[in-house]
Amino acid sequence: MHPIQMVDTRNQYLNIKVEVDNAIQDVLDSTAFINGEPVKTFSGNLSNYLGIEHTIPCANGTDALQIAMMALDLQPGDEIITPSFTYIATAEVIALLRLKPVFVEVDKETFCISPEAVEDAITSKTKAIVPVHLFGQAAPMEKIMDIANRHNLYVIEDNAQAIGCNYIFSDGTVKKTGTIGTIGATSFYPSKNLGAYGDGGAIFTADEKLANKINMIANHGQSKRYYHDIVGCNSRLDTLQAAILNIKLQLLEKYNEARKKVAAYYDTAFAAIPQINIPVRARYSDHVFHQYTLVLSDTNRDELIKHLADHKIPSMIYYPVPAHRQKMFDHFQSGNTMFPNTDWLTERVLSLPVHTEMNENQVDFITSTIINYFKNKSYTK
Ligand SMILES: *Cc1c(COP(=O)(O)O)cnc(C)c1O
Repeated sequence: MHPIQMVDTRNQYLNIKVEVDNAIQDVLDSTAFINGEPVKTFSGNLSNYLGIEHTIPCANGTDALQIAMMALDLQPGDEIITPSFTYIATAEVIALLRLKPVFVEVDKETFCISPEAVEDAITSKTKAIVPVHLFGQAAPMEKIMDIANRHNLYVIEDNAQAIGCNYIFSDGTVKKTGTIGTIGATSFYPSKNLGAYGDGGAIFTADEKLANKINMIANHGQSKRYYHDIVGCNSRLDTLQAAILNIKLQLLEKYNEARKKVAAYYDTAFAAIPQINIPVRARYSDHVFHQYTLVLSDTNRDELIKHLADHKIPSMIYYPVPAHRQKMFDHFQSGNTMFPNTDWLTERVLSLPVHTEMNENQVDFITSTIINYFKNKSYTK
């Protein structure tokens, strides 16, 4: 059995090595390292796949969020609503732009932003909502969009963990996450569902004017070469990464299916363990399992983590410290500061290995190791 990892980018690469190596060699031969043909091809291919008019590639997912916010002409002090239970990048760029992150609570079952909490947090200074499609499942976008429309707010979807996920509206319409709000942002960090072999990111929008502005911002505010109309930044997707992503985009559906298969196996195995709550699937969303995250009850989580580690099984706590408890936000006194669901989850979540290369032996070993742990627990009680 291969050693078990949270993600196995190495074996994934070995399975597509010839194709990837050739694509890399082509870029090396072309020496078009910046804005080469594969960058254009990739953004076109990704637009087609997602069903969105405009895809602007950039250097990473954090930049994607930052550029999205820069494009909306937000002013210092404007309030941006975002969940506390997320990766830090989402809230960090808000603060970096001198905007005010207003944290809100998440739903205990889906881990995603609570629409009721969003509604409660809106003030006259609120300008945007940044929902996060956490762990591969969509935030409740229909409700979020309804709130945004009623209050005239922008919506920036943080789609870094859910590329390929389908959102199902109540009328049956299906849209890919990242294409529903004003702007969508994603990351191609190597461990993401669509991962490059280095950093990468992209921004999505259906609005042509906004797309042009985003494009300018990502390229030093340039309208044509050496003419800089607005202050921007330098955020590009390398040609090498685009060439690799072009290959991996064709496999994304297959990759997401492989993740779902692992998740289904886990679900069945854990159904009989009362201390384990398997990931809840929201009715309105597909789940592409960027993470397979359990919520444990009546369990010594550290002891279980150690038990797994003793059997060479990695596991992770995403996230051990919610954004509202991070030191960097000590001086932001805005809105609510009490998030019982977020704190409750922070103490109980545990993410298990889930990736595209997992085989049945590995999943079986993980589930039986966990089942044995809980069996022995009840014997000793
Ligand atoms: C990974 C991630 C980001 C940041 O992406 P980078 O490419 O690492 O900058 C932002 N938000 C979420 C939710 C993420 O998981």
